[in-house]
Amino acid sequence: MTPGGRRSKSVAVIGCGGLGCNVLVHLAGAGIGKLYLCDFDVIAESNLDRQFLYKQADVGALKCERAAAFLHDYAPDVKTVTVDKKVTADTDLTFASSCAAVVLAVDNNEARRAAQAFCAGTGIPLVNGGVRSGFGTAYLYLPGESPCLSCAGLLETENTPERVNSATVGVIGALCAEITVAVLSGDRSAAGNLYIYDDFEIKKLKIRPERTCSCR
Ligand SMILES: [Zn+2]
Repeated sequence: MTPGGRRSKSVAVIGCGGLGCNVLVHLAGAGIGKLYLCDFDVIAESNLDRQFLYKQADVGALKCERAAAFLHDYAPDVKTVTVDKKVTADTDLTFASSCAAVVLAVDNNEARRAAQAFCAGTGIPLVNGGVRSGFGTAYLYLPGESPCLSCAGLLETENTPERVNSATVGVIGALCAEITVAVLSGDRSAAGNLYIYDDFEIKKLKIRPERTCSCR
């Protein structure tokens, strides 16, 4: 897909923390036309080491709003829509209905389950990133085509955001953006592969659907 083709596409990014900062910058740099920035949280001093869209003066402000302000300066052609919502099982995610992909950049499984259910119902590709300390994963779920996040073992343990390494967040955020741009361009080859970053290496693990899961 040409950069011009990407201009017609929208992507929803759920979570504007460490992972989300990286995903957003790379999607904006790739020329995605419209980005939905979903986060309910405010910027804390402890975020500043890895959430590089924010600076000291932003402490206390909403992440989605300051991220949108950063992107406005960084990539003025990219439209942004801020969504000040905490994603839980009850959250209305229809703001993402027109998106070509949803990227999960969160640290909790309740949001992952809710986004996965939304994508399963709409058929929208879902890219999930997760980081724990110096270890991270990226995974593309294509509803009806590839095993879900549960089959990939991604809903078993919660992330611990206070222990994540800034550089590891960068690796996984960039990889999630790369997978998203590929799927928007018609390259769906990442689907069903769990990309695991560990010990300075990215390994690829082919995921088989669980027999007891209804995702396929
Ligand atoms: Zn499944």
